[in-house]
Amino acid sequence: MITLALSKGRIFDESAPLLAAIGLSLAEDPGKTRKLIVATKNPGVRVIIVRATDVPTYVQYGAADLGIAGSDVLAEHGGVGLYQPLDLAIAKCRMVVAAPEGFDYESAVKQGARLRVATKYIGTAREHFAAKGVHVDLIHLYGSMELAPLVGLADAIVDLVDTGNTLRANKLKVVEEIEPISSRLIVNPASLKLKRSALGPVIDAFGKAARG
Ligand code: AMP
Repeated sequence: MITLALSKGRIFDESAPLLAAIGLSLAEDPGKTRKLIVATKNPGVRVIIVRATDVPTYVQYGAADLGIAGSDVLAEHGGVGLYQPLDLAIAKCRMVVAAPEGFDYESAVKQGARLRVATKYIGTAREHFAAKGVHVDLIHLYGSMELAPLVGLADAIVDLVDTGNTLRANKLKVVEEIEPISSRLIVNPASLKLKRSALGPVIDAFGKAARG
């Protein structure tokens, strides 16, 4: 049996056509069922539904043989113990620094001000500002980062942006691009050795489906 770790929401929604293309459609809609282990059309493959940030952990420890995880989540996890054979080019967005529309970010950075930055992506933010030599106090939040500058918790945020609608609705603007984000197929290296005959074709099929 092969176990594939997936998260609900954007990644599942954009994975569904790929799964259908390679004969792994789910027997139940993960948005509706409360089951955490869901069968697929292929009796040799099952799906476990976990939080997006937990997908790399399940695969790292071999509780799942493979999974689909955002590059934002993989950067925070560190990628230790994971084989990352494919960029699936789904759930695309950008990691950015954003600040209130009236905030002069360039000057604040030039003057060497110590910025307060709220984010869920502490590792990514730390690396980004360290590389620029900008001093920051990082504030770890778990969601709704856009609120932090509006209520004086932070000067800026590091967050994902897709259409920019959430930023605009909260009078924030992108002040710096950090990196483009997309979802990757991740594989447990021991599984790949032990189950190569079953896992290899699944990985190849994902590759073909992702290339369209
Ligand atoms: P938008 O309003 O389209 O710019 O979307 C921004 C909101 O959606 C933010 O709260 C982001 O954290 C979230 N978001 C955007 N793209 C993604 C993605 N690919 N994966 C997870 N969250 C995302």
